[in-house]
Amino acid sequence: MMSATKKMLFGKYEIGKLLGCGAFAKVYHGRDVSNGKSVAIKCFNKNKIQDSNLTSNIKTEISIMRRLRHQNIVRLFEVLASRNKIYFVIEFVKGGELFTRIEKTGRVTENVARGYFRQLISAVGYCHSRGVFHRDLKPENVLIDDKGDLKITDFGLSAVKGQVRKDGMFHTWCGTPAYVAPEILRKRGYDGAMVDIWSCGIILFVIIAGYLPFNDSNLIGMYKKICNGTYRCPKWASPELKHLISRLLDTNTDTRISIDEILNDPWFVKDLGKEELEK
Ligand code: ADP
Ligand code: MG
Repeated sequence: MMSATKKMLFGKYEIGKLLGCGAFAKVYHGRDVSNGKSVAIKCFNKNKIQDSNLTSNIKTEISIMRRLRHQNIVRLFEVLASRNKIYFVIEFVKGGELFTRIEKTGRVTENVARGYFRQLISAVGYCHSRGVFHRDLKPENVLIDDKGDLKITDFGLSAVKGQVRKDGMFHTWCGTPAYVAPEILRKRGYDGAMVDIWSCGIILFVIIAGYLPFNDSNLIGMYKKICNGTYRCPKWASPELKHLISRLLDTNTDTRISIDEILNDPWFVKDLGKEELEK
């Protein structure tokens, strides 16, 4: 019996299983038929993106991804378009989302968390140094490859320094409210770098604790906790880690820790030399 013909994309990529679904796009596994290598194919439906804001978001996502080259950021290889769809061909990250991992195996040790956090900060610091703010760092957008290395993805809400994107906040809101920084809730404008640092704080907290720092059965309750910065660090966290978390989840953006300060934080730098030597 003949096997079913695989769905092909422009004769270049074989489309495989669905990897994930976001608000606007579906991401499939793909195989580059010229070399057999795996890729991820992010597919936008043009009918759904007639809204001009969204179209400009996709253009921004392309231009931002094209300018980023970093080992902890997924690479965009090419963009293809058909009559109804736009496809991003991107680096395939085999391990899936970091948080699916955490869900499966539970929270990680401080040493493991430190390794992930260093990679996260390396990627975020690199983006900021290039004037790019991700603005949507959350569990679904942090992936882990088969070597255990972290890769950030989804620059769909990111912005470039100096650029104003009116709709950005709303998408962030409907995404994962638990990750929203207090200054966004206060609606008085915000600094992209500080928002990303807040999200990194939440991510670090979740992988260490296994639960969200700000959670409530209703949204208003959750927002209150975020704005007041009321959370409880797990008992098992070291004092150094608790201190760093308090600096990341500082509701005051004037005193919240900066990337440069993170790079010199005692918990962050612990055994840095040793690890480098072991590599
Ligand atoms: P959206 O902008 O719609 O949120 P994302 O780019 O975040 O789309 O992709 C949606 C989901 O697809 C991710 O949360 C993840 O599970 C999966 N995914 C995205 N990119 C990759 C990739 N490069 N490799 C593996 N899985 C991916
Ligand atoms: Mg996403």
